[in-house]
Amino acid sequence: MKRILVAEDESAIREFEVINLQRSGYEVIETNDGKKADEIFKDHNADFDLAILDIMLPGIDGIELCKRFRKLSETIGIILLTAKSQEIDKISGLMYGADDYITKPFSPSELIARVDALYRRVALNITRIENNFKEEIKSGEFILNFKNITFKKRNKILNLTQVEFQIIEYFFSNPNLNLTRKQIMEHVWGESGDEKVVDVNIRRLRMKIEDDPSRPEHIVTVWGTGYKWVS
Ligand code: CA
Repeated sequence: MKRILVAEDESAIREFEVINLQRSGYEVIETNDGKKADEIFKDHNADFDLAILDIMLPGIDGIELCKRFRKLSETIGIILLTAKSQEIDKISGLMYGADDYITKPFSPSELIARVDALYRRVALNITRIENNFKEEIKSGEFILNFKNITFKKRNKILNLTQVEFQIIEYFFSNPNLNLTRKQIMEHVWGESGDEKVVDVNIRRLRMKIEDDPSRPEHIVTVWGTGYKWVS
């Protein structure tokens, strides 16, 4: 579950955020107060994927919260909400560990686009930590290198898009396991959506990595559910 903490004291804006995030599949925990946000964060053992923090909050301000959250969690994605007049705060917020900021007023589509993009980065980061920040993973004749962001087959570099790279990374982290289209979708895109997008990317990947894309040996179709990686 994609869990997000929303701290905003203006109730109209907070409700607007909560409704739109819930619609996009996030579990939202909300508060109107900075001090409460700090308590909630600790009570949940920092187990949030994302936080959206208004800068001007009663109790503890958004920038101080950002500092505290970052101390407890390397992986959480933090978005600051700023008013146009808070340019300086925005910069210090980014210095203290915020990942992105949104300037008020904002539209639902802007909010969700920014949140989804950050969630994807957070999910990818978590996979990398689970892989113990290995520089590369080998699988048969393939090598995935995280430092250079390259993918090689028999020592030849294959050019992958960012999404293709993430799909391969997910496969390599789960070799020989059946991964459903839905799992792949949520892992790579951070949301549920049209799962045909997964199939299209798989087809493209097969063209790049299989000796005979019509008879794939590595990205194997699991009939009716999804795909699995076989080295
Ligand atoms: Ca405020």
